[in-house]
Amino acid sequence: MIDHGMMVGMDLLVTGIGDAFSSRSHGSSGLVRCDGGWVAIDCPGMVLAMWRQAAEHAGVSCPPEAVRDLVITHLHGDHCAGLETIGFLHRYIVPGDGPVPRLHALPEVLERVWERLAPAMDGGGSDLEDYFEPRPLEPGHPAVIAGCRVESRRTRHSVPTAGLLFSDAAGCLGWSSDTEFDPEHIAWLERADCIVHECGNGGNHTTFAQLRSLPEPLQSRIRLIHMPDDFEPAESPLVPLSEGELIEVRTGAVSDF
Ligand SMILES: [Zn+2]
Repeated sequence: MIDHGMMVGMDLLVTGIGDAFSSRSHGSSGLVRCDGGWVAIDCPGMVLAMWRQAAEHAGVSCPPEAVRDLVITHLHGDHCAGLETIGFLHRYIVPGDGPVPRLHALPEVLERVWERLAPAMDGGGSDLEDYFEPRPLEPGHPAVIAGCRVESRRTRHSVPTAGLLFSDAAGCLGWSSDTEFDPEHIAWLERADCIVHECGNGGNHTTFAQLRSLPEPLQSRIRLIHMPDDFEPAESPLVPLSEGELIEVRTGAVSDF
């Protein structure tokens, strides 16, 4: 439990902004500081270095064992390849630190995540539950994670993927996750004060031009993530996130804008 006194609202620490092929950036991900502790959104490879670099850049303290909740949007490696590290960390490096971390994901993601992890982690007859407590995210049924209300919605991607809305009394954070351009998904995200939207090369991803077609007041609440290394945005209200950026999620204004 992270104690930062009175409830002040959630903060987003941006930990990775790259796409699956980036040689410059970490996989798209963040750490949300909720009233009840840190929650990871996705868990790419090199997760411990990534978290440390972002926390040092932002000047916040977030030791990896303080992250007790992980939300995994989908099973592409650039979003989940660090789970093995986190599972082993809690089991062997900081044992006795309490219950295993909670793993929140769509039911169909939880059903298959062990297929990815088992060849590395099933030694001695171990199972998923020896490393993580699976917590299904059911679209239409908000969950409470570290004191935040978390809603999920399936996106249009090549594998089951959940977009996210984190809300508390102070504000709401939207997270598109990987998705084709989908106006219905954007309408669902629209009530967020800050919307983190992926921006790629089309196909299973959304393009910059498609996001530029949205009304300008909405664009001004969108920040970009999941960009290819050669992405050079034209001047626009759509500002790319950067790694180590700390965003206060508050109604009406995102202080960092
Ligand atoms: Zn993906």
